[in-house]
Amino acid sequence: TPDIRPLVAGNWKMNGTRASLDQIKAIAEGVKGGLSARVDALICPPATLLYVATALCDDSPLLIGAQDCHQKPSGAHTGEVSAEMIADCFGTHVIVGHSERRSDHGEGDALVCAKTEAAHGAGLVAIVCIGETEGERKEGRTLDILKRQLAGSLPDQATAENTVIAYEPVWAIGTGLTPTASDVEEAHAFMRRELVARFGAEGSKMRILYGGSVKPSNARELMGVTNVDGALIGGASLKADDFLAIYRAY
Ligand code: PEP
Repeated sequence: TPDIRPLVAGNWKMNGTRASLDQIKAIAEGVKGGLSARVDALICPPATLLYVATALCDDSPLLIGAQDCHQKPSGAHTGEVSAEMIADCFGTHVIVGHSERRSDHGEGDALVCAKTEAAHGAGLVAIVCIGETEGERKEGRTLDILKRQLAGSLPDQATAENTVIAYEPVWAIGTGLTPTASDVEEAHAFMRRELVARFGAEGSKMRILYGGSVKPSNARELMGVTNVDGALIGGASLKADDFLAIYRAY
């Protein structure tokens, strides 16, 4: 979208050990320079690597974020990580409502909305994931699902500064399958209209990323679609060369 600064974001999921910090270093080096003035780059490693990763990016425009947060700032929630803790480690973004959280942990729109508010409360940008399943697409319900997830997962105070939408068709994640450019265009145009209807001018500036099997070979086509303001990348973000090739598709 004109006037929107694109974001190319990597989600490492449950992958990455200290040995993988070399990839973060390479990405941090690779995004220095001209392109970084127009396109933001973000890597979301596992929580174990968050603090050391932000330290590695001290002199790089590469941003570091987390993959999930709890909806409360602290307390008796064994195993959880709060938005405050992410901010304390100098993380700037957090993914919420990823389809793997929705399916593996039964997270619904109301909880995703609470996590988004928690992220905002800690000063983080929330990357709110939505997307239809294969069955829902086959039944022709894609836009209905997107409408419901957008309405339920975003709090009223969401702005273009504190919120990014990631459209990730569930059937395209980790499968190598992608929707056609015209299907992506239809979905993104629909989400843009919904965002503008609810948030007005803020909705017209909110970034809408596409995610689901983005790789160097299809990045240019997908990123060229109207209303696609960047990418959320899983598998291809683990290797610096692949991530940087996608980043440079801009
Ligand atoms: C993701 O998990 O957000 C994702 C898009 O994964 P992949 O790129 O591997 O399909």
